[in-house]
Amino acid sequence: MKIAVAKGDGIGPEIMDAVITIFKAADVPLEYDYVDMGKWVFDKGFNNGMTDDAKKTIEALGILFKGPMETPKGKGVKSINVTARKTWNTYANKRVFQTLHGVDTVFSKAGIPIDITIVRENIEDTYGGIEHMLTHDVALSRRFITRPGSMQVIRYAFEMARQKNARRITCGHKANIMKITDGLFLECFYEVAKEYPELKADDVIVDDLCMKLVVQPNNFDVVVLTNLQGDIVSDLCAGLVGGLGFAPSANIGDHICIFEAVHGTAPDIAGKNIANPTALLLSGIAMLRHLGLLEKAGQIENALLYTLEQGVHTGDFGDKSIPSVNTTAFADAVIANL
Ligand code: NAD
Repeated sequence: MKIAVAKGDGIGPEIMDAVITIFKAADVPLEYDYVDMGKWVFDKGFNNGMTDDAKKTIEALGILFKGPMETPKGKGVKSINVTARKTWNTYANKRVFQTLHGVDTVFSKAGIPIDITIVRENIEDTYGGIEHMLTHDVALSRRFITRPGSMQVIRYAFEMARQKNARRITCGHKANIMKITDGLFLECFYEVAKEYPELKADDVIVDDLCMKLVVQPNNFDVVVLTNLQGDIVSDLCAGLVGGLGFAPSANIGDHICIFEAVHGTAPDIAGKNIANPTALLLSGIAMLRHLGLLEKAGQIENALLYTLEQGVHTGDFGDKSIPSVNTTAFADAVIANL
């Protein structure tokens, strides 16, 4: 089986190399087709941040494992990540936030386990980037929420909640203010909920949701939101489980799926071999499960969890009385535990 791999920008190549080294050490039966995609490709004159060959390869293989990509600066320039999600209609962004032993947080220390899955609508909302100046002093942004787009991602969230044996599925929204756009998303949520009577379906206004997630995160199970709100709330959830270094994500489409970390290119630490590869590794483990490589996924996950429990950590987390290791040494420690 072959997958497309794009190392990305910033810390991307460092963490991708670490993860692929772990996969190879675990004898994962995959071949890797490296494709040219990222800000460095954009800089060579490819406006969507990928070469034609990269696009063809990804479309032929159906799976893209990607490192973070820098958003080129400048007016009218679109994010490479958003373009990729739109090009391949990856309508659902699944982000899993779980307590990991060895990753201390206020909640883990208090014995409160967290297991929250955020499903974020991935291609609509304000992410079309349709913005313009009405006058010199007035800027306008357009927000698209459609019934088919909302139904599609909400149905995915309910299906996933059923498979996960979730007790509760919550819609986060701001329909009290954005009565038409968020109102439509909420209406779709309760329409789909009728098909899943075994699930407790409810809704919470997004600002209240942020407060409730911080106060009692173990009350939440699956949360579905529109694009921008989902993006913000998922970084909040990353903070609950130890930070962006522990937040994996999968962009799900009917034909192509993209697996990547929630975090970005971390320009402040790029090129130093100190980034935490855990989020990308967790995304890779989810990809292996998606491909049916369950045994390999379990083996690597156990090695990672054991490594974290041993107190091995990169500089962004962990017991400061234990010296931190760099990215490569962290990968070596996972490999030693395979
Ligand atoms: P960021 O996620 O790159 O960094 C935020 C903070 O978290 C930084 O202090 C960084 O050092 C830290 N951090 C992130 N990942 C880490 C890791 N694995 N290990 C240790 N520390 C880590 O967010 P940003 O600085 O706002 O964005 C930088 C660039 O990345 C921007 O161009 C942005 O558009 C892009 N971005 C890309 C993606 C993606 O490719 N999916 C996602 C988010 C941001």
